[in-house]
Amino acid sequence: CGIIGLAGRSNCADTLLSGLSRLEYRGYDSAGIAVLGADGIIVTRRAVGKVAGLARQVDPAVTGDTGIAHTRWATHGGATEANAHPHRAGRVCLVHNGIIENESALRQEVLADGRSLKSETDSEVVAHLVDMALARHDDPRKAVESVVRRLTGAFALAIMIDGFPRQIFGARRGAPLLAGYSETEGVLLSDPVAIDLSGHQIVALEDGDTVMVEPGRMTIVDTNGNVCLNRKEVKADYAS
Ligand code: GLU
Repeated sequence: CGIIGLAGRSNCADTLLSGLSRLEYRGYDSAGIAVLGADGIIVTRRAVGKVAGLARQVDPAVTGDTGIAHTRWATHGGATEANAHPHRAGRVCLVHNGIIENESALRQEVLADGRSLKSETDSEVVAHLVDMALARHDDPRKAVESVVRRLTGAFALAIMIDGFPRQIFGARRGAPLLAGYSETEGVLLSDPVAIDLSGHQIVALEDGDTVMVEPGRMTIVDTNGNVCLNRKEVKADYAS
């Protein structure tokens, strides 16, 4: 339903939570955040119901400058904590908006790799596929791209990877996602109301794009695998 990613903002948990509150108007059944700390450890908190309930679970252990957050409107599996995003698979931590239509075939592939799934969601399957793809690609954005090519349906994804601090990876097809950066942070957002974007360069990603955002820079690659250097930037008040 709603996605926020921040790469390079100190104590990003506070901004992620306030951003989720700003997305509440969209409706959701559960919410969650994950933060990658300086020690390289990803800490996740998820809750069914209101963002205020999630906020009560966010203790000082949830500290770091890179994080992703999600409000969920369930399509695959009920509104439970186990099905709430972010989903973790190995080094990968992922949030997803939309529906992966070929998830049952992909799920078989993940199970055949000897992995076990902790949720009923289509989204967790994608997290595992990205983790599996990391073994084949030095560049994690390329790992994401290789998985995204195989997905059918509609999606916006934000992905944090253990070992890649201050970077967030994303992709979209058929669901909105904005990517941007300022000198001090990279951002990924499904809806520009989530955070104050003044001072940021922002691009509305196109269908089939993958992206890496980090402080001072982003790399967008289109559906044909070409790096996009001249994508039109949109104003911070862009409305999806
Ligand atoms: N299909 C995913 C799920 O059921 C994402 C739903 C959403 O867009 O919030 O968890």
